[in-house]
Amino acid sequence: MIDAIVFLGIQGSGKGTQAKLLAERTGFQHINIGDLLREQVNLGTELGIEVKSVITRGELVSDHLVFKVVEASLCPGCPGIIFDGFPRNQAQAEHLVSHYRLARVYYLDLSESEALSRMQGRQVCSKCGANYHLTNHPPAQPGVCDICNGALIIRADDAPEAIACRIKAFFRRPTP
Ligand code: AMP
Repeated sequence: MIDAIVFLGIQGSGKGTQAKLLAERTGFQHINIGDLLREQVNLGTELGIEVKSVITRGELVSDHLVFKVVEASLCPGCPGIIFDGFPRNQAQAEHLVSHYRLARVYYLDLSESEALSRMQGRQVCSKCGANYHLTNHPPAQPGVCDICNGALIIRADDAPEAIACRIKAFFRRPTP
C-alpha cells in the first residue's frame, strides 16, 4: 500500500498551502480533490458537466465520483500521496484507510469567523491557479497575478451563498 498524509480543516485554513509545501519537500504527490474537480469543469468533460452545479452550490460531490477522480489522477511510482480536503465523510475515510497506509493526519484548526474572512477576500489566478487575498496577500497590481500576469478571479464557490453552504457541510461531517 502506498503511504498517505492527510490535511483536514475548514475551508480557508491553509490545507492547500501546507500540503503543497510538504509535497515539495517529500516528493509525495499532492492531491486536492477540489482542484481536480474544477479542472474537469473547466475542461468541460462529462464528469465536469455532472459536478459543476454541485460545486457551484458548495455541496459535496458524490463519493463514487470522488474516488474515480482520485484514481485517475494517481501518478505511478510516486513515493506517497498528500490528500488535501479528503476525506470529508465516513465513507471517504473508510476508503482511505482500506486503500492507503495512513502515515500522518494534520488537522488545521481555525475558527469559523476567521475562515469566513479568509474566504471572503480570496482571489485566484485564472491562468496558473496562484492564490491571493485582498488584505492578507494582495497582488502587486490589483486583479493581476504576480507570477504569470493572468487575470485574478473569485471562484464561483467562493460566492457568499456557496461559502455558507461549504462551511455548513464542513461542520456536518463527523469530527476528525
Ligand atoms: P475545496 O476547494 O476543497 O473547498 O473543494 C471545492 C468543492 O469541490 C467542494 O465544495 C465540493 O463540491 C468538492 N469537493 C472537494 N473535495 C471533496 C470531497 N472530498 N468530497 C466531496 N466533494 C469534494
